[in-house]
Amino acid sequence: MTDTLFINARLADGALHDIAVEDGRIAAITPAGSVAVKSGSVDIAGDLLAPSFVEGHIHLDTSFYGDAWIPHKPCTSEFDVHERVAFQAENMAAAAPIDKRARDQLDLCIAQGSVQMRSHVMVDGSVGLTSLETILRVREDYKDIIDIQLVAFPQSGILKSPGTPELLDAAIGLGADLVGGLDPLSFDRDIKGHLDVVFGIAEKRGVDVDIHLHDAGTLGAMTIEDICARTTALGMQGHVAVSHAYGLGDLSMDAARKIAGLLARSGVSIMTNAPGNHNFPPVALLRAAGVTVFSGSDNIRDSWWPFGDGDMLRRAEIIAYRSGFFTDAELNAAFDVVTIGGAKALRLEGYGIEVGAKADFVTLAAQHTPEAVVAFPKPRRVFKSGRLVAENGAVIRQ
Ligand SMILES: [Zn+2]
Repeated sequence: MTDTLFINARLADGALHDIAVEDGRIAAITPAGSVAVKSGSVDIAGDLLAPSFVEGHIHLDTSFYGDAWIPHKPCTSEFDVHERVAFQAENMAAAAPIDKRARDQLDLCIAQGSVQMRSHVMVDGSVGLTSLETILRVREDYKDIIDIQLVAFPQSGILKSPGTPELLDAAIGLGADLVGGLDPLSFDRDIKGHLDVVFGIAEKRGVDVDIHLHDAGTLGAMTIEDICARTTALGMQGHVAVSHAYGLGDLSMDAARKIAGLLARSGVSIMTNAPGNHNFPPVALLRAAGVTVFSGSDNIRDSWWPFGDGDMLRRAEIIAYRSGFFTDAELNAAFDVVTIGGAKALRLEGYGIEVGAKADFVTLAAQHTPEAVVAFPKPRRVFKSGRLVAENGAVIRQ
């Protein structure tokens, strides 16, 4: 791999630095101008150089981004996951092939600066493993420009969708990296049966767990307590995530602190995208307790909502805005959620702007991260292993 010197890069300390990259990793970081500039150097021109964003929760198979606009269809009475899943099946049947939609969505995310991703892919009795097979092929095509973890996601429940336990296990055999789950209590009405399958596969296959949990209040809290107990019993601390965990946003301060301590002790991370129509986890309280909090776009222009632009920096702004974050320390915390928080939850090796780390970074026209969070400036340059992979909102093919 070509060795490259990146000059005049502003780092988190506000000062300009030169960064030498060898074999795709950062070999040296020195004050700007202290090493001889060689031809082929890349001038960052004083922009902030930040670690690439971690898109920690997305659905590559169900987005309609790049396809025809599909107007959002409300549920018939109040929000109902079962009905929403049925709407999704109708929309998917009429949409462009998964392959095309997944590639459009990947290009969108990479161009904004995400080169690490965790995507959930639907595995159930209706689609079987076909969506996963397609996304595995797409992942292979994109392997030089983005690292993707895939979660076998039981969108139709595990016990309610015949054959799903076997399909989830087969999905891991096929190449999925994690096993998922979905609202064990409200969807499958059997927390023990649901978690037996999820953690059974995780133990058998040696894979991590990432469970969708939309359940509110005490229903969500009870589920989190069970997930933490299973995680600890299996010694899986650091290997389990709960996505959404809306219920944490419904609890009293005391109850939230108590469960935050449990999450921290159990090494269970929390993913939030701070959606506008729900309470969501108290990010500052969780982080203060030592819980790893990360984020993702979740749904981008799909059957669940019409929003999403694949920009994790804007996601940091949304999290900060909804959390009431005003100070620089708080804005930096929101930035952490879309960068190092994601790296920790996804257990990424070699992440960050430091010697020895992978040269995966994004340039931002900002003086520092608090400004970047409130302004989410564009355009950006995105580098993977020291190679330019996106510029001016478009992926560069080589
Ligand atoms: Zn999701």
